[in-house]
Amino acid sequence: MNPNLLFTNARLFTAVDDEVIADGAIWVEGNTIRFAGPAGDLGELPDAVQRVNLGGQFVMPGMTESHAHLSYTNNGPSELDKTPVEDAMVQTVRNARVMLGAGFTSAISFGSVHRIDVYLRDAINSDQIPGPRLMASGRDVGATASNADLHPDYAKPQMEGLGMLADGPWAVRKAVRTLRKNRVDVIKLFLDGERLSAHAPPGELTYTDEEVAAAVQEAHNRNMKVACHARSAAAVKQAVRFGVDYIGHANFIDDEALDLLRKNRDRLFVGPAIAWEMKFLENCTQMGYARTSPVVKEYEQEVEATVAAVARMKAAGVRVLIGGDYGLNITPHGTYAKDLEYFVDLFNLSPAEALLCATRDGGAAVDADGMLGTLEAGKYADLLIVDGDPLADIRILQDQSRITAVMKDGKLYRDLNDDNPYLARSADFLEARPATPGGQHEPYAESAG
Ligand SMILES: [Zn+2]
Repeated sequence: MNPNLLFTNARLFTAVDDEVIADGAIWVEGNTIRFAGPAGDLGELPDAVQRVNLGGQFVMPGMTESHAHLSYTNNGPSELDKTPVEDAMVQTVRNARVMLGAGFTSAISFGSVHRIDVYLRDAINSDQIPGPRLMASGRDVGATASNADLHPDYAKPQMEGLGMLADGPWAVRKAVRTLRKNRVDVIKLFLDGERLSAHAPPGELTYTDEEVAAAVQEAHNRNMKVACHARSAAAVKQAVRFGVDYIGHANFIDDEALDLLRKNRDRLFVGPAIAWEMKFLENCTQMGYARTSPVVKEYEQEVEATVAAVARMKAAGVRVLIGGDYGLNITPHGTYAKDLEYFVDLFNLSPAEALLCATRDGGAAVDADGMLGTLEAGKYADLLIVDGDPLADIRILQDQSRITAVMKDGKLYRDLNDDNPYLARSADFLEARPATPGGQHEPYAESAG
């Protein structure tokens, strides 16, 4: 299908600014937006355009999940590599459809089991399966005793499908080169770790400067981006100084880290990925941690610090992205839009500001050429049609029955959260062909070719 569609009677959020156009129109031809703005500004259109009256529904750009783990299979946080790769691959195909159905037309992989996301990306791009535009990362890269090295030494095999352990600048370069050969788009590095990993807590740098410099230089030389896990100010500073493109977490920042982020704000992005902490705190007792335990206290402090860090980064003009660490048992696939609620209720952004993080800024992170994230003439047609007003209640986007349709690259999708769209709900479709009085079906007309 090569669509030539005009949507009228839309409440249009273009994400160029925080305004809504009350009587908006948007014209999509092929995979490109030809017009997006007030209906009154629309000129003459060719006759071939199909007109669709949206009856006042909300139209916004597709969102970007900036820290995706599509190959995670809703396991516990220490069981990421528990699922056999064959099963993980099948589940990942489903997760990609679910992510697109949740309104995320782009995603940046922040670590995948094996190379699942590379093949997933290729299958999506060749229209074999539905899913977001995906930057694939393949496996995590980390040092011995980093957060990529979670299992004790007596446990074999060691995270074979999840992390590549590389120590020393040349081994790090080799890991990056291996990932290049495996056709990834972005390298995921661990610069520090997690309170839950005893040997790699936040603030304890698991790579030296030389190793980080080697990773980023090698990745950039080979036309790949670099994403990292960096919770502490020390890790954030290391990330900025050596040129990391996407900084995950940045929970604890000091004045020096903020200053570095500000100076580099035009080339980097930060994603707090706060869902993990929020859901860990919500479910800590089931996960084996008493509410009064030091671990829980420290995660509470981490959330508090992140609220302050996000406020300071936003004030400094640093682009802060939504998304992160969905795909665990406590943050299951499909719930990605919960992040918008955290941005509004926890980080105190307005709903429009949260949408701009999800659309304009996320789109800029995925496509430096500026073809994604806003609804403007000349850009790729990635958009959502929403039954409701996310600016009045940002939680609406968590209810996928309110997402009437998703368009990606000019292609219109519906019912993406239907787990089996091919399953016949009734036998009515069998009666679609007209029968002759004698009870015989008409023969099909010969195709005109
Ligand atoms: Zn992650």
